[in-house]
This record gives sequence, C-alpha cells and structure tokens, in this order.
Amino acid sequence: MPIDGVFIAIGYIPAVGLAKKLGVELTEDGFIKRDEHHRTNLPGVYSAGDVEGGYKQIVTAVGQGAEAALSIYEDLMNPYWLEKRSGSSG
Ligand SMILES: Cc1cc2nc3c(=O)[nH]c(=O)nc-3n(C[C@H](O)[C@H](O)[C@H](O)COP(=O)(O)OP(=O)(O)OC[C@H]3O[C@@H](n4cnc5c(N)ncnc54)[C@H](O)[C@@H]3O)c2cc1C
Repeated sequence: MPIDGVFIAIGYIPAVGLAKKLGVELTEDGFIKRDEHHRTNLPGVYSAGDVEGGYKQIVTAVGQGAEAALSIYEDLMNPYWLEKRSGSSG
C-alpha cells in the first residue's frame, strides 16, 4: 500500500495488571475505579496517574499523586476502614 508516513501511537492501554491481581475494581473502560480521595475499593490501596484515565498528562499525574499522598496521610491519622469495621459490628 503506498503511503507517505506512519504515525505510531503508544501508551493508551492502562497498565493495571498489578491492580487486577490485588483485586482492585476497574471501570468499564479498564481504568482504576476510585473515589475523590483516590481511594480504591481496597482499604489502604490508592491510585494516581494514567491508570485513572482522564487527561493522562504528566501535570495531572503529578497532581493526582500529591492528592493521593495527602489522602493517605489523612487516612493514616483517621483510618476510615476501622470506622467501617466498628460500624458494621454495631
Ligand atoms: C508517547 C507518549 C508521549 C507523551 N507525551 C506527553 C507530553 O508531551 N506531555 C505530557 O504531559 N504527557 C505526555 N505523555 C503522558 C505521560 O507520559 C503520562 O501521563 C505520565 O507518564 C503518567 O505518569 P504515571 O506515573 O501515571 O504513569 P507512568 O509514567 O506510565 O508510570 C507507571 C510506572 O509503573 C510501572 N509499572 C506498571 N506496572 C507495574 C508492575 N506490575 N510492577 C512494577 N512496576 C509497574 C511502569 O513500568 C511505569 O514505570 C505521553 C505519553 C506517551 C505514551
């Protein structure tokens, strides 16, 4: 086939193999499902960056990483998973 050029696009498939192995829930599009604090469905497991989908740029990945780090700090000070546990046991 005669062509003038080829453009190869890489980096579109999220690298979520480890997340899958851990049991982290994914979105229908295959990205990590998380709340506004970057918490995943697994207590103590957070996400940031391209695996969350969205803009997939360095500046957003870094911002998400900072947000996730601050959430981790807050959650270590006030572990929400302990509240859930004590709530469920009455
Ligand atoms: C071709 C291309 C050009 C781009 N150009 C730009 C640009 O000009 N400007 C811009 O802002 N953004 C650009 N981006 C996007 C930018 O690279 C990403 O948004 C950014 O790197 C996301 O950072 P991240 O930390 O989320 O993921 P990544 O940088 O992909 O880092 C994830 C890391 O986790 C590692 N990893 C994955 N699975 C495992 C595992 N199981 N065990 C251990 N390690 C694992 C990977 O090897 C990788 O090192 C470009 C991307 C591509 C592909």
